Amino acid sequence: MNLEQEIKNVIRDVPNFPKEGIIFKDITPILQQPHLCEKITEAIAENAKAHKIDAVLGIESRGFLFGMTVARLLNVPFIPIRKAGKLPYTTIREEYDLEYGSAVIEMHSDALTKGAKVMIHDDLLATGGTAVAACKLVEKAGGKVACFSFLVSLNFLDGKSRLQSYSDDIFSVVNY
Ligand code: AMP
Repeated sequence: MNLEQEIKNVIRDVPNFPKEGIIFKDITPILQQPHLCEKITEAIAENAKAHKIDAVLGIESRGFLFGMTVARLLNVPFIPIRKAGKLPYTTIREEYDLEYGSAVIEMHSDALTKGAKVMIHDDLLATGGTAVAACKLVEKAGGKVACFSFLVSLNFLDGKSRLQSYSDDIFSVVNY
């Protein structure tokens, strides 16, 4: 069985979470299987290698899980992107639209070196709004988006088309 199928067999679909009509892709059962976590880390790191990235940016909170393991494997820094008000030091922020209302993500103002090439990582790509906001944070800080990685991509929502102007290397281990 290939890795994608192996992961699909483990991801748990939770209907109507966090609200009616959403099928939530619960990746926590993957974390119960260390060999799968290792393969996922290796697959994402392998794709990123060619870019010689300077850092991995992980988006709260499930983007921290594999973002950190990939950063460790590539021996580069990991930078957490968090929801508003969670980071203790000086931050830069980016507001973005949600289906209803808006949200804010933040990064520590000294986290990224000017000119740094980064990979943006999250557990799942849906509409791409969150990842685009992360790209804007990278640009504000003087960095460059080299590539993206996701554990899961919901391709029918076409998030990739919103990310392409930042980098066309948009890797996902599992595609729906
Ligand atoms: P988006 O900004 O629309 O690409 O949404 C991506 C963010 O929302 C990621 O941080 C995901 O963890 C979360 N998300 C969106 N839809 C789902 C879903 N169906 N299952 C699990 N997480 C989701």
